[in-house]
Amino acid sequence: MNEKYFTPTVNFSIRELNFTVLDLDIPGHLRFDEPFYRWLTNICPNKKTGCWNWYGYVDKDGYGKFCYNTKGTRIDARAHRFGYEKLIGPIPDGLVTDHLCRVRDCVNPWHLEPVTQIENVRRGLVSEVTTRRNAAITHCPQGHEYSGWNLMRYGKRRFCRKCLYRSNRRRKETMRVQRIANAIRTA
Ligand SMILES: [Zn+2]
Ligand SMILES: [Zn+2]
Repeated sequence: MNEKYFTPTVNFSIRELNFTVLDLDIPGHLRFDEPFYRWLTNICPNKKTGCWNWYGYVDKDGYGKFCYNTKGTRIDARAHRFGYEKLIGPIPDGLVTDHLCRVRDCVNPWHLEPVTQIENVRRGLVSEVTTRRNAAITHCPQGHEYSGWNLMRYGKRRFCRKCLYRSNRRRKETMRVQRIANAIRTA
């Protein structure tokens, strides 16, 4: 996961209808009937990636959809755009929101950047090149092949099972030695 972008921690308690964007110190109080309240109940923050995955409806392109009523009108919005405008501010006309994390159903506004359509396409192509370059790597740094039993996937990343087992064994061994050392010390 690249750490180029800022990810604030958000703590919200639906029961009390209060939320705080911790790192930014943005407190808020919500009404039960507010669309934003319903929006918050549809996100599932992932502690590892910082992404807020959308639990609501996802369209055929993989983007979260969010429908709500305002002053009697039904609005069909993209979930990530709605959140951006609520938590950060209006998206300038004509700009699209680029997912810096490349996770389409992520609605974390701090993973989004409003850019021009041209820039968005250019970035998409760059990431495609990276994907293809990664796919060209067939062996782990220790020379084990990424295939069959040895290949483990976690999200988009691949891991070598042999190396993982080896490092687990090493960790267990270190812990065992430490336990013995402690036992000797306390004896
Ligand atoms: Zn994300
Ligand atoms: Zn390996």
